[in-house]
Amino acid sequence: MKYSIRIEKSSSSRLSQIDFSNIPFGRNFSDHMFVADYKNGEWTDLRVVPFEPFLIHPGSMVLHYGQSIFEGMKASKNNAGQAMLLRPEMHAQRFNRSAARMSMPDVPEDLFLQALHAIVHIDSAWIPPQEGSALYLRPLMFANDEFIGVHSSENYRFIIMTGPVGPYYPKPIRLWAERVYVRAVKGGTGEAKAAGNYAGSLLPAKLAAQRGFDQIMWMDAHEFKYIQEAGTMNIFFVIGDTVITPAADGAILKGITRDSILHILKDKGIPVEERPIAIDEVIAAYHAGTLREAFGAGTAAVVSHVIEIGTEDLLLQLPPVDQRPIGELIKSEINGLRSGRIPDTRGWLVPVVG
Ligand SMILES: *Cc1c(COP(=O)(O)O)cnc(C)c1O
Repeated sequence: MKYSIRIEKSSSSRLSQIDFSNIPFGRNFSDHMFVADYKNGEWTDLRVVPFEPFLIHPGSMVLHYGQSIFEGMKASKNNAGQAMLLRPEMHAQRFNRSAARMSMPDVPEDLFLQALHAIVHIDSAWIPPQEGSALYLRPLMFANDEFIGVHSSENYRFIIMTGPVGPYYPKPIRLWAERVYVRAVKGGTGEAKAAGNYAGSLLPAKLAAQRGFDQIMWMDAHEFKYIQEAGTMNIFFVIGDTVITPAADGAILKGITRDSILHILKDKGIPVEERPIAIDEVIAAYHAGTLREAFGAGTAAVVSHVIEIGTEDLLLQLPPVDQRPIGELIKSEINGLRSGRIPDTRGWLVPVVG
């Protein structure tokens, strides 16, 4: 191990308060967190400490201007009880692409990975055993200069917090094809997991909920013609026998689940296309009876089936979810890899070492 990480164990565990058969997403935090502080151009004071609140100066840069990025990933246990990470280096690299876009310092990839191993190892008892459940890992970096001025901060804090999440059986989602607000534009911050992107999505999501929809289907910012994403997930359509997902054009978050799905489909010989996809094409396929499936894809849910898509003048009602072979195949492949049920032929799984 290259970096020296100080370990301060919590004196008691809160694990006994958790019911693994009933864990709501994002509300439970495990016993420890990883923390490092960036000062004078380097990451210092690397430590694993008991999970607890910390103080922030009211002038802290992040509170005013939102210079903050995050990642979302999962650790699972295979059938031998070994804690595993799925493609962790992809998350480390994306974190640094987000950091670069937000004018934040790199977290060296080996530091990011060593911190992940340390925090998952110490709280490995918090990984729920059933397939589909996991320990959700939330790396976060925020600007911490105590100075109210718009500038790139010189001080940052990097933390990794974790919390158990149950098997996610998302109910099928209804999407609203948004034509007023946009999530991202080429040249903007949409490819970064930057905090402000999510704040900006809350109002359109609330308005869509008032119309009875669960998530926004984001459209391109120039013409409201091309489909981008579903809420905070990438989107896939099955039209005829072909799976189609929007090409990453600078305004789409490049999901690691999206990338895994592309690999899995190619390996199985299922035709798949990454290209611009216009809402008119989806509507035409709907009328022709060839729109077989639509689903959102991301780390949390893996696959969320889309049951309806609403536009100003049309409600597309998709086939029932028990007729969704592609979406179900993908979900089973990814969850099965994590649990060890499906052999890892691609070298994606990394065993956690202490
Ligand atoms: C995180 C995220 C995704 C999914 O990325 P994964 O790496 O698959 O979890 C998709 N879209 C947005 C906007 C996201 O923030």
